[in-house]
Amino acid sequence: YRVKISDDQMLASAIEGFASEPSVEFAEPNYIVTAMAMPNDPDLTRLWGIKNTGQADSSGKVGTAGMDIGVDALWEAGQTGSKDVVVAVIDTGVSWAHPDLKDNIYVNKGEIPNNNVDDDKNGFVDDVHGWNFAGDNKNSSDDHDHGTHCAGTIGAMGNNGVGVVGVNWNVSIMPIKFLTASGSGTTADAIESINYATKMKVHVMSNSWGGGGESQAMKQSIQAARDAGILFVAAAGNDSSNNDRTPTYPANYDVENVVSVAAMDNQGVLASFSNYGVTKVHVAAPGVRVLSTVKSGGYDTFSGTSMATPHVAGV
Ligand code: CA
Repeated sequence: YRVKISDDQMLASAIEGFASEPSVEFAEPNYIVTAMAMPNDPDLTRLWGIKNTGQADSSGKVGTAGMDIGVDALWEAGQTGSKDVVVAVIDTGVSWAHPDLKDNIYVNKGEIPNNNVDDDKNGFVDDVHGWNFAGDNKNSSDDHDHGTHCAGTIGAMGNNGVGVVGVNWNVSIMPIKFLTASGSGTTADAIESINYATKMKVHVMSNSWGGGGESQAMKQSIQAARDAGILFVAAAGNDSSNNDRTPTYPANYDVENVVSVAAMDNQGVLASFSNYGVTKVHVAAPGVRVLSTVKSGGYDTFSGTSMATPHVAGV
């Protein structure tokens, strides 16, 4: 249950008051969380995280061959993904119409588009391509760029002669929007997003966002996803800090399906902005100057543990 307190009430005393009610299990604040991309950095434009050739980029600058995720060996073996695998991108939405994404956007086959009926009776009317929990409507397309960028790393269409390629050439990306056009959202909307993805039986949730304090309600949602066999991949954060000492949520929840992802550069070195932690951070992935899709059919280069996370979700 969400409760809005009045302006003259103190948050701490309101929480204490609710928590003292016998019918209330726990009460906690609805935190503000944010997308975890760094400012736009458009100088290097190669997909080094996918295949690190070290060849000259469009500006003529010669890079150094280095680390990548090694997925091209799988591609050569014919393993280029499957539409049967559903990855929820819980973010600012995903551009449905992007020419490099449109065939890999999840389609809810139980729903007849735009008939104003909840055909599959899951509580959401016309949820053909995920849901928008920020606006409480069916439009889960992207009005920011961040979610579309993450989606392109997971599954920009492969071998289509256009733009970039994701870890998967073929996959079903379910756009779940809870971050607004400013890139921020609330814990309560994040919980609804996670619960929806669990209900819809996705295989992986990709979470390039974080902030706020520990939430018992969110932990329970992640546990329910775990019980359903769903992987919960989360950005470790961009504060250059140690998550073993200073927790970042949701990456720090101590639930078995959580994979916390740091960002590395194209030499396999931890990015200067990336959080770390021997215990609480599990893996590093490409997150510096990553090229991917953005809204309005575009492409751009972003950095952040936000960009590392979809590499892991994609794998
Ligand atoms: Ca429905």
